[in-house]
Amino acid sequence: MSLTPRDLGMDVPISRRDFFDGIAVGCVAATAAPYAAAPARAAQEPSGPSALRTPFTVLGDTGEALSVPHALRDGRFWEHAGTPVPTGEHYGLVVVGAGRSGLEAAAEWSRRRPRDRVLVLDNHPEGGAGREPLRRGVAFDAVMCDRESFGADTLVTLSGPGWIDWLPIDGQARKDLRTLYDDPPDWLPGLSREAKEERLAGLTYSAFLREVCGAHPDAERFCRTMSAPEWGYDTRAFGAIDAWGTGYPGFDGLGLDRSRPSRYNSATVRAEWHGAARETPAPQDAPVRWSSPVVSVRDGARTATVGYFDGHRVRTVEAGAVILACPSAAVPYLVPDLPEERRRALSRAVRVPLLRAEVRLSDPEAWRRLGVRRVRWTGAYWCAAEFAPPDRVRLLATPCRSELGPDAGSAAGRRELFRTPYEVFEHTVRDQLARLLGPAGFDPGRGIAAITVHRWGHAIPPEYRRPWHEFHPDGPSPADAARGRFGRIAIAGSDAGDGAAVLAVEELTR
Ligand SMILES: Cc1cc2nc3c(=O)[nH]c(=O)nc-3n(C[C@H](O)[C@H](O)[C@H](O)COP(=O)(O)OP(=O)(O)OC[C@H]3O[C@@H](n4cnc5c(N)ncnc54)[C@H](O)[C@@H]3O)c2cc1C
Repeated sequence: MSLTPRDLGMDVPISRRDFFDGIAVGCVAATAAPYAAAPARAAQEPSGPSALRTPFTVLGDTGEALSVPHALRDGRFWEHAGTPVPTGEHYGLVVVGAGRSGLEAAAEWSRRRPRDRVLVLDNHPEGGAGREPLRRGVAFDAVMCDRESFGADTLVTLSGPGWIDWLPIDGQARKDLRTLYDDPPDWLPGLSREAKEERLAGLTYSAFLREVCGAHPDAERFCRTMSAPEWGYDTRAFGAIDAWGTGYPGFDGLGLDRSRPSRYNSATVRAEWHGAARETPAPQDAPVRWSSPVVSVRDGARTATVGYFDGHRVRTVEAGAVILACPSAAVPYLVPDLPEERRRALSRAVRVPLLRAEVRLSDPEAWRRLGVRRVRWTGAYWCAAEFAPPDRVRLLATPCRSELGPDAGSAAGRRELFRTPYEVFEHTVRDQLARLLGPAGFDPGRGIAAITVHRWGHAIPPEYRRPWHEFHPDGPSPADAARGRFGRIAIAGSDAGDGAAVLAVEELTR
């Protein structure tokens, strides 16, 4: 039974906060008028510097930081920007972007050239993006077989051997899942190991289940969101070869060599196989100038000139070298002199969007009574929910339209993510918590004290992955074409490939 907006507590005054790429676009304090009383509204895309302040999108100066890159992208920025003003500063290195790659590049430069002055410019307010890392490889202890997938909600705990018996799915689908988990046959008899890997590389995991294993549609539907919390898209976009590489059910009978990853596996799957986390600890003491979106980088006769927007005007600093450690797709807007071929290659680095919500419960006991910690949903808006004691619930949704593949699906999902009103997120959060915790006595009207939503339009760097990227693993890839020194400028972000930060420093100090 669906609850009404009033039953769900949409009209209850609580703390509501809405962030886009780490920047606040809307906040309503607990004492304010109920949010539901206001007309539904989406996070409006901010425009040029002189037209940035709308009542909703911009609260304080932080909104400027988000809107400048968008105004640059849309060709509106320079109409309003005025004449750049030199600060008179000169640095050995200026880094654009204070993410993991930018800080790594700054640290590597200082190690090699300790006497150089280094400046890092970032468009976020102080403290950076405040991202919570995704926790890879942490198992779910329950699956909500939801009404969106199976017509009614059934929470199934994954402990013990008999959990498949409890799934509310077709009997044939249960049989197929038992086979996939417990005793999968060799689905590709007569093929060599290499030919099997090649066949898997040509399929998504959903296609593997349907076309190779002949699994019942309910079995594929049950598995579909397995990849979503870690990769940002579901198994209609996640490759079968990477599903094999990360231990998904169905592959054991193929007799593939499990002592090494396949050459077709994506870079992250290969790295994790060898136990190497891709994350590199970033130095904490890098000299970062926050709220300073870079708007132009030009190489000159003696130095490069870097322009950034300080909230009022464009200021410039001179640099002996510049490392661009922002998302690759932003680079063509910052460096207008780049050759067309490189601009095209950089624009092909499409990041995957993510949506997270943090809910503060005023009644956390209901979740404790549920007896599980981490729940995967099979088809509802939020695909994962996790209890973080003492009183938080974290939810994750994946806006990528997986049926279109990771690149086209991310672009389409990002547009949707931006347009969706906060009220939709709040409603879906309340609805799913009511469905999950209602049987444990939870009242969504009185049980929630705060909801904070983080819309990450450009979250997970693109990953070359079969079956979508035919050039993988032999190349050449768009990242190969995008990389490389351009005068005093080099490109270093994660989108440019593994180790790009150190490579960029090497290129510029050679
Ligand atoms: C919620 C969330 C969870 C994630 N969890 C994981 C995880 O568990 N594991 C994992 O491997 N990856 C994870 N990622 C992705 C991870 O953040 C990236 O892999 C990693 O941060 C990439 O580092 P980077 O330095 O290349 O890019 P980023 O971290 O994106 O840093 C780029 C920086 O450039 C800045 N910038 C952009 N344009 C400009 C400009 N014009 N001027 C100045 N600065 C600019 C941005 O503000 C940003 O700070 C997650 C991402 C999000 C959003």
